[in-house]
Amino acid sequence: MGQLATLFEPDRIAVVGATDREGSVGRAITANLLADFEGDVVAVNPTKDEVLGLESYDSVTAVSDVDVAVIVVPPPVVIEALQEAGEAGVRDVVVVTAGFGESGSEGATRERELRELADEYDLNLAGPNSLGIMNTGVGMNATFGPESAQRGSISFMSQSGAFITAVVDWANDRNLGFHNVVSLGNKAVLDESDFVAEWGEDPDTDVILGYLEDVVDGREFVRAAREVSRDTPIVVVKSGRTEAGASAAASHTGAIAGSEAAYEAALDQAGVLRVETVQDLFDFGSILAGQPLPEQDGVAIVTNAGGPGVMTTDAVGDSTLSLASFTDETVDAFRDALPDEANVYNPVDIIGDAPVERFEEALDIALADPNVGAAVVLACPTATLSYEALADAVVDLQAEYETPVAATLMGGSSTRSANDTLSAAGIPTYFDPARAVRSLDALREYRDISRREYTEPETFDVDRGAAREILESADRRDTNRLGVEAMGLLDAYGIPTPAAEVVDSRSDAVDAAERVGSEGRRPSGNRTQSGESDEVVMKIVSPDILHKSDIGGVAVGVPPGEVADTYEDLVTRAHNYQPDATILGVQVQEMLDMDSAVETIAGTNRDPQFGPLVLFGLGGIFVEILEDTTVRIAPVSEPAAEEMLSEIDAAPLLRGARGRDPVGEGAVVETLQRLSQLVTDFPAIVELDINPLVATPDGVRAVDVRLTIDQEEL
Ligand code: ADP
Ligand code: MG
Repeated sequence: MGQLATLFEPDRIAVVGATDREGSVGRAITANLLADFEGDVVAVNPTKDEVLGLESYDSVTAVSDVDVAVIVVPPPVVIEALQEAGEAGVRDVVVVTAGFGESGSEGATRERELRELADEYDLNLAGPNSLGIMNTGVGMNATFGPESAQRGSISFMSQSGAFITAVVDWANDRNLGFHNVVSLGNKAVLDESDFVAEWGEDPDTDVILGYLEDVVDGREFVRAAREVSRDTPIVVVKSGRTEAGASAAASHTGAIAGSEAAYEAALDQAGVLRVETVQDLFDFGSILAGQPLPEQDGVAIVTNAGGPGVMTTDAVGDSTLSLASFTDETVDAFRDALPDEANVYNPVDIIGDAPVERFEEALDIALADPNVGAAVVLACPTATLSYEALADAVVDLQAEYETPVAATLMGGSSTRSANDTLSAAGIPTYFDPARAVRSLDALREYRDISRREYTEPETFDVDRGAAREILESADRRDTNRLGVEAMGLLDAYGIPTPAAEVVDSRSDAVDAAERVGSEGRRPSGNRTQSGESDEVVMKIVSPDILHKSDIGGVAVGVPPGEVADTYEDLVTRAHNYQPDATILGVQVQEMLDMDSAVETIAGTNRDPQFGPLVLFGLGGIFVEILEDTTVRIAPVSEPAAEEMLSEIDAAPLLRGARGRDPVGEGAVVETLQRLSQLVTDFPAIVELDINPLVATPDGVRAVDVRLTIDQEEL
């Protein structure tokens, strides 16, 4: 066990605010503790002599060797009670009392005081505003819920206390047990990361489930969960999607990589299985707690019912699993064992008149097949079949083969005792075969998580000083926005850019076009060739103009003879669009050959909870319409960047759809890693877009960049 061993396994608990007043929280907690707790329960309440048969003490300081104090006194005296607990040497505390951060400014002040005291006395403090905690291992129910959980190997934390009471009631009906249950409350001190870390070290916890509305410290959570999820599955329902940040964002990346995308990326990178529904949470939790992980992705379906067999087959089709293809030996064995009308291929239909022996034999044959990684036993009630006998047979065969099995005994009350037998053996049962398949799919997903290898992000040789200088130059100009004039930032981090110069007169534009145009024609290994022409691209440079092409501020394919006029044109357009816009000049850029190019977007954003993110997707001017992007929490390692490339819908485009040459994926992957290093190095970069990052068979080139910086962080 870890840091919180005493919180969950105290020898002596004091209920501070214990009372026998009917209907009170103090009474409910005291009574729940008195019910089964193996240790001592002490009542503290200066206004009472006795509470539920316990002597009542005036203060926790009057009792020796208290391990855990459960505080249920009214809000104004919580701080005092906490102080006394600290003085008495108690290090583990559950604050049940509400009226803190969740309720106005007075509560917020109180919560700050509580946090300060916890710091001062080094308290492990759960809550405030918590239903309490349970540890079934020692019969400890330190909650004011109406029921105690049954014993089990799932540890469950919830940001909603009310939800816990509902879950425990529901789970008790299904013989679903828990090891620890924690109502997180306001998470003033201990939060989800602490409990994940604790349960990761707890031999009695096989699965961690969470109902979360937010995460206190995103990066800490990812760190803790990534460590734990190798050995202990973590399944989380995350509700309450916030749009904060996304609306205020000035860049594409900011708008796309809202908090929701950040959560998705973070939970995925942390190896957490994220589910959308409470049903999936407990379905996945029970199968992960009860069944081994599949070695193969092939599923065998054994059924006495044709129709449900097809439903199950469809569900397999919707999952990442596949129907197992049986070996010849298996098919022969089925032929020998089953009647002629049976289907000896998957789904194996053993026909409606099947007695339990036929089920048993068929399942035995299926589980023996090396291509079968998991099985669904699917039955409808018939006169020839005893569900109880079937359940016994399934339990025995599952134990013999150690292959994961999910059962779907369809029906109502006729299934009850068989289902009890199955769930007692850790085999999940469902009415709907789709749930059985989804649960097996979750086992497969966790198997892959447990085998994941973590690759350290690469550190490239970069010119940090040059990058800093460019960011500081913006500071001197008193702006927090930079555009193509800041291309040097990318150069400093080794992200390829086209030859370019910013000019502020007609004649300089003509000279620059001469140099830049010839640069474009220079034969060089990793450069995209612009063919025979001397054409250039010209762009208005202004921190006040976000979308240059929207106002006609980008001229592509400008021949040498038109450079001077185009210069005037661009400046006039910018001026007409916004008379008081600051115009830094015009950028003359090498013109890239776009024939075999794909315009992608690479960007970064800073999430309030998870810190810097890296985004990749299909780019160009339609990026917001297509929204074909993917996000990772920085730092991004090489395999993670590779995954990003293959994840977007447009991946086939990068790989050379319709006879085009594939783009240089390695260059894109490297750019994402370098970008990740750039945002990690400079917290001052709030958001940054490279759009487009032009990807061609020869490599990549960032032809446009835009970023927002936070002066304070420089
Ligand atoms: P903005 O996004 O502000 O409108 P960009 O600099 O991204 O301006 O340019 C808009 C489009 O012009 C790009 O998506 C690309 O199709 C094209 N373009 C820009 N620069 C070049 C270049 N150097 N070579 C070829 N095409 C370019
Ligand atoms: Mg652009």
